[in-house]
Amino acid sequence: MLYDNIEIKNGRLYFAGADTVELAEKYGTPLYLMDENKIRERCREYKSALDAFAPEGSCAIYASKACCFGGIYKIVAEEGLGADVVSAGEIFTAKSAGFPMERGYFQGNNKTDEDIRFALGCGVGYFVCDNFEELDALDRIAGERGVVQKILLRVTPGIDPHTYDEVATGKVDSKFGIAVETGQALEAVKSALSKKNLSLEGIHCHVGSMVFDSDVFIRAAAVMLGFAAEIKKVFGFDIKILDLGGGYGVKYYEGQGEIDIPANIKQVAEYVAGKSNELGIKTPSLRLEPGRSIVADAGITLYTVGSVKKITGYKNYVSIDGGMTDNPRYALYESRYTVVTANKADAEIDLTADLVGRCCESGDIIQPAVGFPADIGRGDIVAVLTTGAYNYSMASNYNRIPRPPIVMVKDGESRVAVRRESLEDLIKNDIL
Ligand SMILES: *Cc1c(COP(=O)(O)O)cnc(C)c1O
Repeated sequence: MLYDNIEIKNGRLYFAGADTVELAEKYGTPLYLMDENKIRERCREYKSALDAFAPEGSCAIYASKACCFGGIYKIVAEEGLGADVVSAGEIFTAKSAGFPMERGYFQGNNKTDEDIRFALGCGVGYFVCDNFEELDALDRIAGERGVVQKILLRVTPGIDPHTYDEVATGKVDSKFGIAVETGQALEAVKSALSKKNLSLEGIHCHVGSMVFDSDVFIRAAAVMLGFAAEIKKVFGFDIKILDLGGGYGVKYYEGQGEIDIPANIKQVAEYVAGKSNELGIKTPSLRLEPGRSIVADAGITLYTVGSVKKITGYKNYVSIDGGMTDNPRYALYESRYTVVTANKADAEIDLTADLVGRCCESGDIIQPAVGFPADIGRGDIVAVLTTGAYNYSMASNYNRIPRPPIVMVKDGESRVAVRRESLEDLIKNDIL
């Protein structure tokens, strides 16, 4: 099924070698499961492709926002990746987990003075600077602390990766970065080079998410290297690092497109080397920032069915004990998922129903028009597959619903990585 960590045995869904129905009984639902081996396997795919094909010093950087908790930083650190962090919260989580912060890349389009101080205090290796104000503020604060901070400059190459607008960030009119096309990015390089407390190491872009077209990163690299050549011409300065961001797509359902990531990395690395030669610039080392493709298929979510409502002549609903609070992606982007009835996994599918959550919101849909066994009912366990990315990290306490725990599964064994939120957790900051 969908991925090699999903199997059906004796009518039950198994994940990472474990019986999901037993895990639902043991830990309760809703429940996030994560497959540790799969996360490591994905990290290694990036690392080995970059080691094999890209210049020395190249590396993959895990985009924490896809799924952020202490345990994940330990795995990513052990696998030799860096980490993108976008807030004091992510920095604090990484540092508390013992992540080597010199491998941290601080992203974001509005870093406050307080964020900057915090990140410098934590020794974050690189700032990915997004705007002129940030360059000024970072230079000033680094100066106060007597440090020279390494930075990359985030620019927009003007690439539309042909995905949803919400996740297309490399276009000229994006809120992220500084546009190459308008000449403003070159101005920003001038500003960065003039700052004595900043060390410009390279340039960064992130064109978007759910990229399946193997050409997208080549087109982005072409614009970025053209820009690097312009920097060289105007300032006589060679960039050391070319960061092409994240965005590799992931398969959520059978029949969806796929992209061979190691093959694409090889293609991109060869292109960058060839093009750099052609332009007469030094070949920069590469950075890639995968988030989704590291964790998506390493996660599934389990729920318990509460009611099955058949509105005669209209439609059917299967309601579960979670919802947009633990997975807002259908509500936000109409994202598609594969759904399996975990305790009746090989039963015939003969009921079509919307899988809906328990929140007070008609848009609280996990997935419309899902196939279920005809006898699905209260107490059955439903699994939503490929929820490792942008589920836990986007979860909320809407309707004062506690967030589910994350249980890590490895070779059939399970342990809690993040505790279930308690009712006490929900009121712990209420003072009046
Ligand atoms: C979101 C994001 C990523 C990760 O994107 P994925 O689609 O999850 O791989 C990487 N870099 C930046 C700057 C991002 O904003």
